[in-house]
Amino acid sequence: MNNFLDNIKEAKCIAIIGHINPDGDCVGSCLGLYNYICDNYENKQVDVYLQPIATKFRFLKGADLIKNQSEDKVYDLAISLDCGDTDRHGEFSGIFANAKETICIDHHRSNTGFGNYFYLDADASSTCEFLYRFICYGTISTECAECLYLGMVHDTGVFKYPATSEETMTIAGKLISKGVRTQYIIDETFYKVSYNQNQLTGKALLNAKLHLDGKVISTCITTDMFKEFNTTKDDTDGIVDKLRVTDGVEVAILAYQKGEDLFKFSLRSISYVDVSKIAIAFGGGGHIRAAGVDIKGDFDVTLDKILKMIEEQL
Ligand code: 5GP
Ligand code: MN
Repeated sequence: MNNFLDNIKEAKCIAIIGHINPDGDCVGSCLGLYNYICDNYENKQVDVYLQPIATKFRFLKGADLIKNQSEDKVYDLAISLDCGDTDRHGEFSGIFANAKETICIDHHRSNTGFGNYFYLDADASSTCEFLYRFICYGTISTECAECLYLGMVHDTGVFKYPATSEETMTIAGKLISKGVRTQYIIDETFYKVSYNQNQLTGKALLNAKLHLDGKVISTCITTDMFKEFNTTKDDTDGIVDKLRVTDGVEVAILAYQKGEDLFKFSLRSISYVDVSKIAIAFGGGGHIRAAGVDIKGDFDVTLDKILKMIEEQL
């Protein structure tokens, strides 16, 4: 593990890259590492490359310095965090590919394996939890700890998903000891919703349908629904979690429309269906209980295919 810090020590110019549509764990791990390096190493040039992040994450230190545009620059070291394959680096793929040395740190079971140094722990609750194990407790600042804590909160659904282990809670405790504003992070970045978001959620839940004897629930948010409530994909956070806890349900499916014939599917399961298998079959990825994929084609046709695959596992 010290190898990782040695690699950082040796590099002058470092790029940190996450995945497209950055979520809490992605933003938290990227900014957590950014702060850790800035706090502990002199004379480093560190750049974080991410697509625009949600407003609620902008309080994190360094968020205002994130680069949203790719550059023609060759870094000594590029570090990929929370990203299962190089396609998901999106417009920043070149920065990763062109770096002299590359490292991947991730927790997605579907990870394809890339980078000169490849670290994967598919049992870790979050990339933030995994990243914590590479750095030194004594030199973690409050700002760095807040980034990592936020990522853990988001990927564990506030410490409740099955990947939440004894170690997850120990690490969360260590981060809290650094002065993390726990309630602020949980309420303001995980639970808080806007009025419009509530309306979108309401309509999505109202339209939800049960399948396979009530073991599966699905709903689709169309472009028109986004328009009706003046909302975007960022306002879909948390909806699949509400579907997931419907009594009797094993699998929850939330889709939202990205284009005329393009839908993003979020899949969640409760205890035995492996949804990552289904996402991978369509070219996506994720974890056993939470996976996602973009699928081209008619929504109803795709849903039927997914339901058949779930039926095989039920
Ligand atoms: P969500 O449904 O919340 O977007 O994602 C659930 C999990 O699946 C996350 O760990 C996310 O990184 C992963 N995931 C979502 N969409 C994709 C995708 O299109 N490709 C891959 N490889 N993973 C995805
Ligand atoms: Mn993650």
